[in-house]
Amino acid sequence: MNQAILLDNAQLIDGNGRAPFSAAVLIEGDQIAAMGEDALQRVGHLQHARRIDLAGKTVMPGLIDAHCHLSFDDAASNPEIFYQRRNALSALVAAYNAKKLLRAGVTGILDPDSVFENMVDVRDAAEAGVIEAPRISCGCYALITAVGGTAGRLINDTGITGYYKSVQGKDEIVAEVRRQVKVGADWIKVHVSGVVPRYAHLGERCSWTQEELNLICELAHDLGVPVMGHCRGSQSTYRAAKAGVDLIFHGTGMDEQALDLVIDKKIPVCPAFTFQANMVDYGHRLGTDPALISLFAREITDSAESMRRLVAGGVPLLTGSEAGFSMVPYGHWHYREMEVFMRYFGMSSLQAIHCATGAGAFALKMAGQTGVVAPGMKADLLVVDGDPSQDVAILGEPGRIVQVFVGGQSVDLSPPRERKALAGWRMPSMGQQLTREFALSGAGQTPHSQPEEL
Ligand SMILES: [Zn+2]
Repeated sequence: MNQAILLDNAQLIDGNGRAPFSAAVLIEGDQIAAMGEDALQRVGHLQHARRIDLAGKTVMPGLIDAHCHLSFDDAASNPEIFYQRRNALSALVAAYNAKKLLRAGVTGILDPDSVFENMVDVRDAAEAGVIEAPRISCGCYALITAVGGTAGRLINDTGITGYYKSVQGKDEIVAEVRRQVKVGADWIKVHVSGVVPRYAHLGERCSWTQEELNLICELAHDLGVPVMGHCRGSQSTYRAAKAGVDLIFHGTGMDEQALDLVIDKKIPVCPAFTFQANMVDYGHRLGTDPALISLFAREITDSAESMRRLVAGGVPLLTGSEAGFSMVPYGHWHYREMEVFMRYFGMSSLQAIHCATGAGAFALKMAGQTGVVAPGMKADLLVVDGDPSQDVAILGEPGRIVQVFVGGQSVDLSPPRERKALAGWRMPSMGQQLTREFALSGAGQTPHSQPEEL
């Protein structure tokens, strides 16, 4: 058992949305044993306890990122994930990147789908103490139909493509859900909607029948495993909610009927807007296609009203960074969904912090066990220099998170060792088109100082 630790003199944000208050916190083993006067009395009876004076600091629950792809390694495109990743190497790199999450104050993630479904192994390694990482709850491959997902024709008609598995008909659905449960999925992930290239103007469309979605939920629930669905558009969200999906990712573009059903069933929604918000604010500086920028800008603004109604209707909103892509690199943006919730949905900082902590515990299948600073909870805690209830963005500032506990263990926050290129890991690009005009004009960008990991 770890030595008992008393966190004294700090301001507390409890993760339940309550205003900050002062109270000591006593950690014993992997739990918060007591708080306030109880903690001070109890520590007097302990032989070996370490007291840490945290005057001027804030203690709060660790962040829970409910949508983080730890096996993608900040990929710049789907083809990079589908064709350049290798199984063992991407698991090793995931372990390296996990350290960046801890340094950013992330003590738990839900990883929806992974290449080679290798997050199952990364999770088991973390749980056994083989690697240091946040708590991990994960899916295996995302189930998809041959109609496709967000990668169009890149997705094979059958079998596996990257983090997807295409299933056709009842027999394949039954076999795959059971197989994923056997290999250790915490959740079954379904890509309920997708873009079909020739029909892209219709947005993402539902690619499953009601019966198929019902079957997935029945099978998974029968085995005690929850289901999460990637849903954009009314029909996919409505059918997924009707089938009994337990968590909805994105949930944008809902009509009245879909909204009513989600509110009625109180299905948690993780919009994962950080990706879009980053593209809107910074895409023009990254050379992102302006059409793509305005598409994603509309996704946020068009859905703000329905997200507000979900919140008013008592539906938990969870924060998700979509980290794993180059637009949202690991360790940089995990706090940002709170800003998005405040800016677009009118939440207070404490409500947004609750979404990223207390509410997020559901994604870890640990509701009532973590995400909140209270006696009996797991000691998954941050010590922050400053007050995030005044400005959540300080959680993204380097050096502000001075200590992180996962299960009562203080984690190593030293920077990860510098990384060199991995052969054959990134997609090489020829850069922009070389027209004659461009060649003769003498214009050009300075090349990357380091040719990046081809
Ligand atoms: Zn995702």
